[in-house]
Amino acid sequence: MILLWDLIIKNGRVLTMDSPWEQNKSLLIKDGIIVDIVDNDLAQRLDANEIIDASGLVVMPGLIDCHTHLGEYATEGVHKVRGKSQKMAATSNFLDCLKSGVTAIGDHHLGHSVLSTPVGELKEAARNTVLTIKFATGTCCVGTEPLAYTSSLRPGNILTYDDLDDGHFAKLAAESEFPGENIFITATVANLPSNLVPNGGKRILESDDIFRIVNIFHALGKKIGAHIEGTENIQLFIEAGGDVIHHAHGATIDQFEEMARKNIYMVATPHGGTSRAPNTPQEIYSALNAGVTTAIATDSYLPVHSEALGMDDLEVVGPKDFLKICKPTFEYLKQQGMNEIDCLKMITTNAAKIIGLEAEIGSLKTLKKADIILCKGLPVFDFTDTESIVMVIKNGLIEISKDFQ
Ligand SMILES: [Zn+2]
Repeated sequence: MILLWDLIIKNGRVLTMDSPWEQNKSLLIKDGIIVDIVDNDLAQRLDANEIIDASGLVVMPGLIDCHTHLGEYATEGVHKVRGKSQKMAATSNFLDCLKSGVTAIGDHHLGHSVLSTPVGELKEAARNTVLTIKFATGTCCVGTEPLAYTSSLRPGNILTYDDLDDGHFAKLAAESEFPGENIFITATVANLPSNLVPNGGKRILESDDIFRIVNIFHALGKKIGAHIEGTENIQLFIEAGGDVIHHAHGATIDQFEEMARKNIYMVATPHGGTSRAPNTPQEIYSALNAGVTTAIATDSYLPVHSEALGMDDLEVVGPKDFLKICKPTFEYLKQQGMNEIDCLKMITTNAAKIIGLEAEIGSLKTLKKADIILCKGLPVFDFTDTESIVMVIKNGLIEISKDFQ
């Protein structure tokens, strides 16, 4: 019997992320899985339902954006929807991801104060899209006066801190699918003009609270992530045993070393996200150098901070700007002697670790999912426009295909 492969991608410059460039390899795909990576000579003799000649193209894992707000905040902020069309707007955002070469995201449901779609309905909408989506549930605190709390458990309402008891955090932990912004240790500016958020950046949880909430998540077998800015505030979460620090604006080199020792991950947002100056390329270099598992994420859709590098022409960043966000950092890292593959791990392998899917995605490897992009060159280094991503394959199926031959 002759085995018929579903898909063979041959003759490309293959970037598995686990090893240096493979110039002479072909990927054999069956049932949505990478079954083998073989020499082109061998692939030449095999048959498949579809054979892609990727000559001249880079073949690499689909990109992963491990911190987005596409199901919730972007639907109101970008699409201006309020009612049942929220799920349509979310689906439209998810398609934008796929068209931008992003095959998996870590999205957030924080109980937007205006939109009342329950997280279960967004999870259902997400299941019907061609994208791997993990949802973090959480409580958010906006730095208005007085402070405004929201929670994934009661979307469409403004709450107070007294509404958030231990039982509440236990339910949130049970619903959460990855350590995203499960809690806010500092109040967010939430993309609002600064006069409306005078408490933006203010610490809203003290050490005892943070320990208690971290322990609730851990007791339920869940990792916990937090939105944090400011050195002292970051330290509280480190000491409480937190798992993932989102933004980490203001982290010091000593803290990066402690995070590396304690296996605490960082999600950098070099274009903003808090009331402070965003992560600089130098800070991200320090984190990587210390050994912190670090990812860069879009926090889509997010207005660009005035001190963000290389984003002058943009007011707000979304999925299609992912590569552009990375450019100043990647260029700096390369100048410091880091190789391109290690840079790209921040938007593939490391991001997969943050959303807890490193066994399935984030690199090209036998028995991993066939989530693959074909590009005219190396993302970020050779291009930042998503038009140069000419094919997107998700679970072994060609989902986006542009003319490239
Ligand atoms: Zn965020």
